Formats: sequence, C-alpha cells, structure tokens
Amino acid sequence: MSVADLIKAEDKTAFSFELLPPLKGNSIDKVFYTIDQLKEFNPLYINITSHRDEMVYKDVKSGLFERRVARKRPGTVAVAASIQHRYGIKVVPHIICSGFTKSETEYALIDLNFLGIHDVLLLRGDNAHRDKYFKPEEEGNNYAIDLVHQVNELNTGQFLDGTLLDAFETPFGYGVAGYPEKHEEAPNLDSDLFWLKKKVDAGAEYIVTQMFFDNAKYFDFVDRCRAIGIKVPIIPGLKPITLMNQLTVLPKIFHVDIPEAFAHEIRKCKDNDEVKQVGVEWCIQQSKELMDRGVPLLHFYTMMATNSTRKVAEAIF
Ligand code: FAD
Repeated sequence: MSVADLIKAEDKTAFSFELLPPLKGNSIDKVFYTIDQLKEFNPLYINITSHRDEMVYKDVKSGLFERRVARKRPGTVAVAASIQHRYGIKVVPHIICSGFTKSETEYALIDLNFLGIHDVLLLRGDNAHRDKYFKPEEEGNNYAIDLVHQVNELNTGQFLDGTLLDAFETPFGYGVAGYPEKHEEAPNLDSDLFWLKKKVDAGAEYIVTQMFFDNAKYFDFVDRCRAIGIKVPIIPGLKPITLMNQLTVLPKIFHVDIPEAFAHEIRKCKDNDEVKQVGVEWCIQQSKELMDRGVPLLHFYTMMATNSTRKVAEAIF
C-alpha cells in the first residue's frame, strides 16, 4: 500500500517520524537507535532526508585551508533500503532538486524502484550555504513542481532521454511540503498556497508541514488550503524542543515563531534537562489538541530529539 492508502486506511491518528542519514564517516547505528526507541509506537512510515553537497574547508596546516565540495550526509537511498530490509517499516526517502541534476534524480528513482521503494517526498531542498538564493544545477530542477513533473513522466514510462520503459508496475506515490507560517521566499501566504495547490493538482497525494509550535497556525493553514480546493491530507510536523538555543536557532533556520507562552517557560529553565521537559510537555499538549481535532497522522522531526519524541509518543499513543 502507498503512504496515501495507508493514511486513508487508518481510523485513528497515526505516527511517523523523520530521520537524517548519518554524517559521512559515521555508522548507521545512530539511525537504528532512533528506530529502536520509537518502533513500538507502530510508525506508519519513516522519512529519510536528503542533503546536497556543501563547500567544506580542510585544514592543510601552515594556516592554510583547502576548499572542497562534499556531501556531508550522503546515503539517503541506502539508508531507506536498509531500514525497510531490517524493520519491514515503510520508508519515504526525500528527493530534492538542490544539488542534483535531473539525470541524477532519475538514477536515484531507478535505484529506489529496484529496491521496492515507491513512496517519496518531493522537495526543492535547502539552498547551498554558500548561496543566498536557491540556484538549481545546470541540468537540474528549479522548483518542487518540476520534480513532480519529472516523477509523473517516469511513472508513465518515459526516461529523460526519451527511452521508453515498461511502466513501473508500482508507480511512485509522493507527498510535498507545506508551510503554515509561509515559506521564507513567498511574498505572502496566498502566493505560497497558489504554488502548493499546483503541486497537489499535479499529483501530490498528501502534504507534510514544516514544524510549528502554535496549533492555531496549522488550523488556519488547513482552512485556507481547503478554501482553495486542496483536499489531500495535511500532515502536521512537530518537533519537541530540547535545547535552550533552539529558541533562536529554530526561528532563524525554519522561519517559524515560538509562541511567547512557550518561550517564557523555556527562558525560566536552568539547564537543557529542564528545557527538554518543557519541550516534551508543550509537544504533548500540541499533539493532544491535534488528535482531538482528528488529524490523520502526527509526524515528528527527531533530529536531536529521539528521547523526547519517545516521551511524547508514550504519553499520546
Ligand atoms: P517549492 O515548492 O519549490 O517552493 C519554494 C518557493 O517557491 C516557495 O516560496 C513557493 O511559494 C515558490 N514556488 C513554488 N513553485 C513555484 C513556481 N513554479 N514559480 C514561482 N515560485 C514558486 N530540505 C532538504 O534539503 N532536504 C530535505 O530532506 C528536506 N526535507 C523537508 C521536509 C519537509 C516536510 C519540509 C517542510 C521541508 C524540508 N526541506 C528539506 C526544506 C525544503 O526543501 C525547503 O524549505 C525549500 O526551501 C522549499 O522546498 P519546497 O519543496 O517547499 O519548495
């Protein structure tokens, strides 16, 4: 069953979470640790992020640094396959425009097909840190909608070079991202929703939201989506805050607000152990309200928050 079908089949709020591939040179054990902590809550599926290359600076002594381009977190496809094989849990690798040519994307999709993985999340991906604005590769996709079109073409049995294949027996099903507090580059939320609807009209079966800490923003976002005819499930993304500095880091990186009532509680904490506790409590309250309102699934961003996610899951599932 595809992710969309699994969501439809659930009669109560389900659980899913996102993992990052390990940093280059690190073992996959950290990934397995997270799953081992969370698998008893029956995740419907697990997302695996994807990361472009970045400029890295290697110290070559005598005060000199060598500039190199490297992917710090390669391995999305392999990590996804490894999880599916080891745990039998559905996996949803992310496919991004950023840093990849269309051919490279096609090769990744061919690999996924051979591995029996047919669910993906299609995204533009983060800018290279060196660039102020998103720059697509010369032969790459510019927006997530372009990636959607590429996958649609492949699903009908056409490679980029025009070669025909016997259409995949199981075509790729996919979701896309949505931003209750607006994508950072969108001139306004209506404009962002205009483009979001294009992705859904082109075939996206569900939307996963950016993290948010104020449920009112999510409910308003869903209402606005429904008002313009977006009917697919809109999956709320949640993150338990675990560190004091996330009070400023998360708004800076993800362009989301932290409500003052929550920020106030975090500011009162004496150390990060207390912050973790407050973060878990806030996330439990958010989750309970979302469940009461009948959301199909709660999706957790687990980076640096595995144990907190477990505590939230223990309280709500
Ligand atoms: P798009 O849908 O392409 O939208 C980008 C911006 O362009 C928006 O402002 C939109 O309004 C506008 N827009 C869209 N289409 C058009 C068009 N045709 N013409 C003009 N304007 C347009 N990043 C990673 O690098 N790796 C990941 O694994 C990853 N996973 C993520 C998972 C989730 C659930 C979310 C919410 C984000 C994730 N990101 C990831 C970050 C994401 O890739 C960035 O936020 C990126 O800047 C936008 O991606 P998008 O797919 O929403 O882009």
